[in-house]
Amino acid sequence: MTDEPVDVLVIGSGIGGLCCAALCARAGRSVVVLEAHQQPGGAAHGFERKGFHFESGPSLWSGLSRWPSSNPLRQILQAIGEEDFPVLQYKNWDVLLPEGHLSIGVGPQDFETVVRDVSGADAVAEWRRFIEVLQPIAAAADAIPLLALRPGVDVVGQLFKQGPRLMKHLPAMRHLAGAFGPLVDRHLQDPFLRHWVDLLCFLISGMPMADTNAAAMATLFGEWFSDEACLDYPVGGSAAVVDALVRGLKRHGGTLNLGTSVDSLLIENERCVGVRCSNGEQIRAKDVVSNADVWSTVDLLPSSTAMAWRRRSGGTPACGSFLHLHLGFDATGLDDLPVHTVWVGDWDRGIDAPSNAMVLSIPSVLDSSMAPAGHHVLHGYTPANEPWSLWEGLSRNSRDYTQQKGERCALFWSVLEQRIPDIRERCSIVMQGTPLTHQHFLRTHQGSYGPALSAADGLFPGVTTPVSGLLMCGASTFPGIGIPPVAASGAMAAHAIVGRKAQSDLLNALGL
Ligand SMILES: Cc1cc2nc3c(=O)[nH]c(=O)nc-3n(C[C@H](O)[C@H](O)[C@H](O)COP(=O)(O)OP(=O)(O)OC[C@H]3O[C@@H](n4cnc5c(N)ncnc54)[C@H](O)[C@@H]3O)c2cc1C
Repeated sequence: MTDEPVDVLVIGSGIGGLCCAALCARAGRSVVVLEAHQQPGGAAHGFERKGFHFESGPSLWSGLSRWPSSNPLRQILQAIGEEDFPVLQYKNWDVLLPEGHLSIGVGPQDFETVVRDVSGADAVAEWRRFIEVLQPIAAAADAIPLLALRPGVDVVGQLFKQGPRLMKHLPAMRHLAGAFGPLVDRHLQDPFLRHWVDLLCFLISGMPMADTNAAAMATLFGEWFSDEACLDYPVGGSAAVVDALVRGLKRHGGTLNLGTSVDSLLIENERCVGVRCSNGEQIRAKDVVSNADVWSTVDLLPSSTAMAWRRRSGGTPACGSFLHLHLGFDATGLDDLPVHTVWVGDWDRGIDAPSNAMVLSIPSVLDSSMAPAGHHVLHGYTPANEPWSLWEGLSRNSRDYTQQKGERCALFWSVLEQRIPDIRERCSIVMQGTPLTHQHFLRTHQGSYGPALSAADGLFPGVTTPVSGLLMCGASTFPGIGIPPVAASGAMAAHAIVGRKAQSDLLNALGL
């Protein structure tokens, strides 16, 4: 038992946990992060094999290459002195849709050209009107930086309390806490546009547009369809972002312990006072922040603690899981590959139907440091649409498992072969992953993307819990799933610990 408590102990080094830890360290707190894996980053960790740098999660980044930026991750990197890492910009990605093979760009002109070709001039006019409707909603969302919110559940109430400078945004604010679907239903009739929006919602939230938060989508559309829009790719991939957060944490005196799994939370007099690790070590802390998902967090509590909350939270519905394909392959003669390709099989099956959508990402197209010379590295995944029920109970060593993996991952190859017919012969590394692989390496409940909490029913829960001394951050908390949201939740957990004065110093330092 380490008797002297640290100020802040963070369970998990996902992007949310690292953001929380780095901000607490910046505010002068002693901070220890405990990560079960040998690599930091959680869903955003990278790994290397034979000179290929593989990604495990995020492929779409924006708001990193500019300052000022409304991306909370970019703001936190700035705050911890890690603003100078290199970021590449690009505009286009490919989509293989039932309508055909399209190259779609961010920025208004390129997208309108595609819409005109697929659906005609009326659809372009409809799209322009839709973007106009979204502009005040995006402006309202932008008017209060997420880092300015105080931790707590009543986020909408806080927005309304911000006073006169927000008066002009009041009419649009009623949309911020709701779902995007009703807005789309009111303003878009063209089938292609509706499908396109549904696809983007699904890629962001893991749920269709009826369940995806309107503020998140209005902000995304505001960024992607502005005149100066671009997408970003951090040089070195998501691992480079994780490294920057870890460097910032350490520069401010924080510690990261890899390969240290937390087995349970220590509760004394109904307060969380530390953790017990699987190696038997106990570490005491004034505040504990769990970056583990909600299901894993409640499992760390003794059965007699916060029983109603444990029952309710443990029953949170989960998004679907993933199939993964990682390839290292010979790039000879493949000069015009897109960095990303998104494939959808059949709109009528629904965007969330199993085996109906996939993302193929080849970051070495932009960043040659990701693969050995003359080669590419690919990460393919089916985004949150692989049913856990197909895999639950299978052993990863069994013949049934191997056979099912081959059958279900065949989809990747059939889509890839449309673009690179001899892809199988080109590969020097092939790794296929299932929801069980995802659960194992990302340590998520049922290999899930995160909680399937519909925006139609309200916002994600805040970072506070009924157990004093225990906070949460990451994809199970407000504002939700995805890199910018989990960075914001990490900041909110940090604000709860370091207090109003330190939060306001941070906002001043960032000019927010
Ligand atoms: C395939 C895929 C593609 C994605 N694409 C994008 C994208 O393009 N753009 C985007 O913005 N977002 C994307 N996301 C979502 C985004 O990556 C995640 O929402 C985000 O990274 C989750 O961060 P988090 O803070 O919740 O922590 P997590 O990544 O969930 O990490 C939690 C960490 O806690 C550790 N942990 C858990 N329990 C314990 C314990 N008991 N003891 C010690 N450690 C523990 C885990 O090992 C893990 O490292 C994608 C996700 C996936 C899976």
